[in-house]
Amino acid sequence: VEACLENIRTKDDQLQVFNQVNEQALAEATSADKRRSLGEKLPLLGIPIAVKDNINVKGLATTCSSRMLANYTAIYDATVATRLREAGAIVIGKASMDEFAMGSSNQTAFQKQTRNPWDPTRVPGGSSGGSAAAVAARMAPAALGSDTGGSIRQPAAFCGVVGLKPTYGTVSRFGLVAFASSLDQIGPITHSVADAALMLNVIAGHDHNDSTSLAFDKPDYTSCVGKDIAGLRVGLPREYFIEGLNPTIRRQVMAGVEALKEQGAIVKEISLPHTDYAVATYYIIATAEASSNLARYDGVRYTHRSEGATDLIDMYTTTRSQGFGPEVKRRIMLGTYVLSSGYYDAYYRKAQKVRTLIARDFQQAFSDVDVIVTPTTPSTAFACGEKNTSPLDMYLEDIFTLSCNLAGIPGMSIPCGLDEKGLPIGLQLYGRHFGEGDLIRAGSAIE
Ligand code: GLN
Repeated sequence: VEACLENIRTKDDQLQVFNQVNEQALAEATSADKRRSLGEKLPLLGIPIAVKDNINVKGLATTCSSRMLANYTAIYDATVATRLREAGAIVIGKASMDEFAMGSSNQTAFQKQTRNPWDPTRVPGGSSGGSAAAVAARMAPAALGSDTGGSIRQPAAFCGVVGLKPTYGTVSRFGLVAFASSLDQIGPITHSVADAALMLNVIAGHDHNDSTSLAFDKPDYTSCVGKDIAGLRVGLPREYFIEGLNPTIRRQVMAGVEALKEQGAIVKEISLPHTDYAVATYYIIATAEASSNLARYDGVRYTHRSEGATDLIDMYTTTRSQGFGPEVKRRIMLGTYVLSSGYYDAYYRKAQKVRTLIARDFQQAFSDVDVIVTPTTPSTAFACGEKNTSPLDMYLEDIFTLSCNLAGIPGMSIPCGLDEKGLPIGLQLYGRHFGEGDLIRAGSAIE
């Protein structure tokens, strides 16, 4: 904890990672030391963890990096926060993010636009950019992020760390501020696959407080680390290895595939034919759900409230105009549009149908292979400001990560070398529902 706090002290001015640092962390570490000396054994006893600022940790702020929640302090623990505490972990602070988790660069944050520790002129990715940067800059050995369309895996790739989005329903969303409820999932960002497995052991499992949480037999994920991969069937989807793919990224990902082959995996080409529709489908469904979820920020209860409104409607309007940034407003407008009468059938209902087709692509593929390998991102970390003027360019950043959330399957990004600028590249593994064990097996074989 001391070493992490020291790194935060010396690096946070430049990197802008933490919205809030837990002032109790050192005291909690002292008591963890005492517990350990009394023989207590817990999986994360005394380990500092950074938590994305859309996950409630009682007594700390939950701002979602938005002006709307700038003064909100959590009054209860998210289930994942409870589980971290029960495992002995110490929340070291609340990590910055894209506002309400909408973005791929961490640059839509109201404050604390996090920089990439590998090159501070570049973005850390997003929306869990603060969580990934915290791990990469050794401000915490592990972090929690949330992933709606790539927000754990893309920043993990940009920051050279491991990021795991679990199967939908595996980790409780209770206490996670909702962006798109049918896509959101909390997961770990760590230095190694083994650490991701350890974190998943702690946070996964059924929770009564989340109606979409699934009851399932939780394996010991750490038992899959380093497990033999002979005979593991690996699919390479041709739709992800297209002609225009950055050659360095292709080369490094294929080097990872070679490593799997050398250890006895069987590699084959597969097809996920509806891949082309993922971006459009995601940005209809995610914005529709967001427009509904964000209706609660009305200035009445716990949010920012504008001063001097003339009546109730004026108060709602000015509060929301001031409280939300441009990207959040864009999503609310898009989402409201696709849900409005006359457009619902043309856009929203159609997107739901395509979502089913995308999910079936994976079902089909996983009857033939155990894991799928793709690049995590089409590029490595881009410069701050680079894609700010073109929302569409920013949305295309997610092209390789979105399908995973639409299908509800698990996905993991692991580092696989550097590009010619010395920036990290991510290799993505997809698995079947509850196939986290296969991802951990394959991921630890490449590491
Ligand atoms: N970048 C995607 C978006 O802006 C994904 C975000 C996320 O996974 N939270 O919606």
